[in-house]
Amino acid sequence: MHVLLVEDDNELAARINRGLTQAGFVVERAVDGDDGFELGLQSQMDMIVLDLGLPGKPGLEVLKEWRARGVGTPVLILTARGTWTDKVSGLNEGADDYLTKPFHVPELVARLHALRRRGWGHASNILKHDDLIVNLATGEVTRGDELLELTALELRMLKYFMNRTRHVISQSELVEHLYSSDDMRESNTIEVYVGRLRRKIGAEKIKTLRGMGYRFG
Ligand code: CA
Repeated sequence: MHVLLVEDDNELAARINRGLTQAGFVVERAVDGDDGFELGLQSQMDMIVLDLGLPGKPGLEVLKEWRARGVGTPVLILTARGTWTDKVSGLNEGADDYLTKPFHVPELVARLHALRRRGWGHASNILKHDDLIVNLATGEVTRGDELLELTALELRMLKYFMNRTRHVISQSELVEHLYSSDDMRESNTIEVYVGRLRRKIGAEKIKTLRGMGYRFG
């Protein structure tokens, strides 16, 4: 499992490298945005860990251009504390997951394993369920002939549901996945977001299971 690590901080990169290597990943590192961009284009990487604060080409630009050029490799972005707008922009530009610094390397390892299990961006850039289609490369969601306008959070939620068709997903699991640890984690807002998503994709697609959570499909 090859991971491209684009991170300019030597000390942090060394810690990440150690942790990922111990976990069985093969790590290739780039120290700035320009090198990182080229490596992401050329190499056969299974996953990419991309710091957004980089010398040279900014991380968000790197991500945006990869996606524009059809690079479907799953990307986990690293953001600095207090820059929540970076997270939103990153997800909008096609990031699959994010971690806010500081973080524990075992959490990064766990998230990379989860990304690999979900297989986002690997075999296909398309998630499909009945008439609902999500293009993971462009973030476009269509239902039949209709193009749906989803917020980044709704898209993230939909992708999560569609990767777990027919699984029971608890509210706390959704909260865990949708918000970073230090953000507002209010599970009562999840109901609101699920309600909005339902109205856009069709209410019948997400069932509420009393006292258990939700099930898609
Ligand atoms: Ca940095």
